Parts: sequence; structure tokens; C-alpha cells
Amino acid sequence: MKPNFPDRYSLAHLPTPIEPLARLTRHLGGPELWIKRDDLTGLAGGGNKTRKLEFLVAAAQAQGCDHLITMGAVQSNHCRQTAAAAAKAGMGCSLVLRGEKPVQDSRRNGNLLLDQLLGAHIYWSGEKKPTAVAEAVAANQKKLGRTPAIIPYGGSNVVGATSYVWAMQEAMTQLEQMRLNFDFIVFASSSGGTQSGIVLGAHVYGFRGRVLGISVDSAAESLKTKVASLATATAAHLSLGTVSLADRVEVNADYIEPGYAVLTETEREAIQLTAQMEGILLDPVYTGRAMGGLIDLIRWGAFTRGQKILFWHTGGFPALFAYDAPLTAA
Ligand SMILES: *Cc1c(COP(=O)(O)O)cnc(C)c1O
Repeated sequence: MKPNFPDRYSLAHLPTPIEPLARLTRHLGGPELWIKRDDLTGLAGGGNKTRKLEFLVAAAQAQGCDHLITMGAVQSNHCRQTAAAAAKAGMGCSLVLRGEKPVQDSRRNGNLLLDQLLGAHIYWSGEKKPTAVAEAVAANQKKLGRTPAIIPYGGSNVVGATSYVWAMQEAMTQLEQMRLNFDFIVFASSSGGTQSGIVLGAHVYGFRGRVLGISVDSAAESLKTKVASLATATAAHLSLGTVSLADRVEVNADYIEPGYAVLTETEREAIQLTAQMEGILLDPVYTGRAMGGLIDLIRWGAFTRGQKILFWHTGGFPALFAYDAPLTAA
């Protein structure tokens, strides 16, 4: 059965390219590395949230909504992309960012600067739960005669995850045209929407390799459970019936120890190597950790030389500007 895709609001430049990482492959002396450039989705700095927002904005508009509310960390790429999507769609946008407004200049840079340029109203959750603050903002918007939609963390519900089923259809078409096949697709996984969509898309479009999410912040079992249940719910949303994908959900959580958004030597080395070998910018929180993990696994001999790996770049480079000190520390 093929998915019954709902409407999209066009925001992304698609298809994103698939390119070889020839110099990085040679440097590491392991499997053949390729990259899918979802950092180039084109909307105000790009990233995986552009794809999710195509479906999320269409769904919100279909319900008559004129204001988007979402939550995230100070340097959330999802919040920056939501602000840009709202601007393009002519909707209002409120962002609830976790904690207090940062005092350090560099921490106000990066995504937070862009949120402001994109015209979002910013609320700081302080001690409160960001979801509770978002509810209060929504109630307030209603009083003002607006019709708000609350988008969950990372845009990871069935509507958002649908975009990565769509993305797998795109990738499988590219692989066919390029006469390429991969043993693994590897990427950063956090709120699980991307992985749920890729896993479901792999099933629907017959991808034969393995799909490995490198966890950025959650323990392996909890992320696996979340991804499997979101993938099943997304299948139902797309009229694919009941599918169980628990067996196809693979998570490596070996790199979460330092904590969310904490830059260590693993991320720093991955960011510098990818920049200096390929001219490609990773981000400090997600893709830096995922590529750092992949490099570590290659060095441990987790893959053979003959294997081919597709690293799916999920974006996030604007956050680099909020990490100038740790990135340039010797
Ligand atoms: C949000 C994000 C991810 C994680 O995607 P999920 O769907 O939340 O798992 C990975 N990389 C970047 C750059 C992101 O902004």
C-alpha cells in the first residue's frame, strides 16, 4: 500500500542533494560515506524542520489557524524554522524558550537572533513548564481574536513525521537514479519525528539497509519506544493500516552522557573535520554529535570498508554562532 499524503504548504527546496564525502571517507579509511543535504532545505538556514513544517503549516491552515506557537531550547532550530514558516505563510508566531533569557552575548546570537529577525514573539518559561506557558499564550491569542495552533516539541507528531516518509520517497527515487544503495542511513535523533518517518518510509518504499538514529539526549530504550509508537501512529494517519516497525528502530545512545547541547571533543572534532575535509557545516547540538558518534563507530570497526553509509544532515548550522568560545578553545 502507498501512503495517502495530506496537503503540503511549500517551504522547502526539494529534492535536497545526495553527495559523496570523498575526502572524509579517505581520511577515516572505513566505509564509503555519503551525505543527504537537508541542511539545504532553503528556509532561513534550513534543516529537517522545514520538511515537517510543510505538513504542519498546511494542517494548521486547514483548521483555520492564523498563529503558530511552539516550544524549544534557547538555540532551537525548530523554533527558528517555525518562525520562518509562519512569516512566509503570513501567520503570527510565538515561541516559548526554556529557562531564562541568556545574559552572555554569544548565547543571544545564532538561532535566537534569527527568531527575532523573523518576527517571532519570544516568551521565557523560567521555572514553569514550557507546555504550560504555551497553553497560556494560546489562551491569550484567542482573547485577541486569533486562532492559534500549538506545534509540539520538534514538530514531532504524526503530521510532522509524515514529512520524513515523503523524504524517504524522495531519497529512494534519487538512489534509483544514481544507481546507489546504502547499508546504513545514520542521523541525529531527538524528539523522534525524523526517525519515525524514515523508518516508516524505509518500510513503505523497500529500503533494504538499516536505519540508525544516534540519540542526542534520550536513553536508547525510551527513544526506541517513542519512535516505534510514532511510526505506527503515522502509518495509521497515512491510511497504511496497522504496521509494527519496532524491529526496524535502531538507536545508539552512547554519546548522550555529557548532556543535551553540551559540546565536547567528540562534537568539536566532527564539526572541524567535516568543515575542513568537505566544506560542510554541522551543528554543535545534533549533527555534530551524530557525526562524532559515526566517526567513533568507524574507528571502533563497527562497519566494513565495502559498506556504504548515508549520513542524513538535518541542519542546524546557525547554532554554531552561539558556540564560538567552546568551538575555538584549544
Ligand atoms: C530537531 C533536530 C534534529 C532531531 O530531529 P527529531 O525529529 O527531533 O528527532 C536533528 N538535527 C537537527 C539539526 C535538528 O534541529
